[in-house]
Amino acid sequence: MTIATSEQSVIDSVNKQLFIGGEWRDASGGGTLAVEDPSTAEPLCEIADGTPEDATAALGAADEMQEEWGKTAPRERGEILRRAFEKIVERTDELALLMTLEMGKALAESKAEITYAAEFFRWFSEEAVRIEGRYAVPPAGAGRMLTMKQPVGPCLFITPWNFPMAMGTRKIGPAIAAGCTMVMKPAQQTPLSMLALAGILEESGLPGGVLNVVTSSSSGGTMGPLIADPRARKLSFTGSTEVGRKLVAQSAEQLLRVSMELGGNAPFLVFDDADVDAAVEGAIVAKMRNIGEACTAANRFHVAGGVASEFAEKLAKRMDAMKVGRGTEEGVEVGPLIDGDQRDKVGDLVDDALGKGARALVGAEKMEGSGYFYRPTVLDDIPEDATLLKEEIFGPVAPVASFDSEEAAIAAANDTEYGLVAYVYTSDLKRALRVCEGIETGMVGLNQGMVSNASAPFGGIKHSGFGREGGIEGIEEYLETKYVAINL
Ligand code: NAP
Repeated sequence: MTIATSEQSVIDSVNKQLFIGGEWRDASGGGTLAVEDPSTAEPLCEIADGTPEDATAALGAADEMQEEWGKTAPRERGEILRRAFEKIVERTDELALLMTLEMGKALAESKAEITYAAEFFRWFSEEAVRIEGRYAVPPAGAGRMLTMKQPVGPCLFITPWNFPMAMGTRKIGPAIAAGCTMVMKPAQQTPLSMLALAGILEESGLPGGVLNVVTSSSSGGTMGPLIADPRARKLSFTGSTEVGRKLVAQSAEQLLRVSMELGGNAPFLVFDDADVDAAVEGAIVAKMRNIGEACTAANRFHVAGGVASEFAEKLAKRMDAMKVGRGTEEGVEVGPLIDGDQRDKVGDLVDDALGKGARALVGAEKMEGSGYFYRPTVLDDIPEDATLLKEEIFGPVAPVASFDSEEAAIAAANDTEYGLVAYVYTSDLKRALRVCEGIETGMVGLNQGMVSNASAPFGGIKHSGFGREGGIEGIEEYLETKYVAINL
């Protein structure tokens, strides 16, 4: 397939080298790696394939800049973020096209991510000037206590492919605001959005060495040595629980400060007092945002027995009407999955459920042709032992199971190792509060299918990780508290 001129020009506009110490440079061995369009399975371009030596040079640049950057006036740090926020918003259309090309999601969804990503810069531009300490009289009255907040130091960031820009700005924004320098390694499948973002921060006046970006085909090979390097002080990772667990173990060597934004298995509960139509609309957002490839995606629907069939049928009708195709095409709502492995995994989970007695109301099949498309799917009569109730599906598949009591609904919601987010639909305020308190997750969407908001603390518990991104909590991840005991 030949690629349209406007598409080629946004790809051409991105610098495809490594960004180290304020300079763009080729990988030390001169190697490159291909970036693919998941809607055609064809290559889009080549980018630098960074080596461990390049990664070490990037950490060296971050370390060298840390002291100076940590002393920069908070207002100056905030204004750099504010300028970058404005530039991202101005360039929403071209950045969204770039994101759709490398990740596959529909253009409208890419635009929504650009807005969401930019909001982290606006929020943390405002937080940069509100870093405070405390002056107190101790209980015994003698002396005084002073606490101050200082930047953690050079940070290591690793991000996934599903939200190529927002998963970066959620880390870069607070780190810049707090006065930390950083090395960022984006996912190899979607590096272009991050490279474009680095260009925007450079234009916005971010001094060289504060943000260093290393793209690589060997994530463990490049980041492993940095995690073991005493110059790094913090590791913030967004990705799978499996990789997160390994990184926590590696980070124990240097006792790094660690934030982990890991996988999810979100339950979506619909009680019999809920507005079923509103629940179906919420389900479409919670399930189909990002083609189901979101850590916050509703993974399983637990619906009160009395309304389960009505909910499943209405959801199936809505899902069936969604237009699937290349994300750049007019009216497309559902793009391809990221690669063949992900599509096979989704297909296997559906086949497992069907084999154990589930019923397909719509979908349940791969789509023919190039690209990694899977038809939006609703499964009913889900048996308790279906694997997709336990595992993150990461695709456009909605399994619907029924429950017969509030206790059973909460028990089903909590029957998972994950604890990122849950969705609850009910019109009974007392029940809403009981269920929100009883659910073991870091976030709950109450009568709404989306929780993401730059001004809110995003994060999970249990195997979904620890640490919070966004909100007034987000900057704390990048600050150390120093206490000074004062003898008067
Ligand atoms: P992944 O396989 O864990 O990869 C995430 C990042 O880690 C990529 O940059 C990857 O590099 C890198 N990586 C992989 N192995 C590594 C290693 N041994 N050492 C250092 N880095 C390594 O996850 P994914 O498939 O990209 O993303 C999907 C997962 O992310 C899902 O589980 C989803 O739930 C989770 N997620 C969580 C949140 C949240 O906030 N909780 C948000 C979004 C996504 P390569 O690209 O080179 O493989």
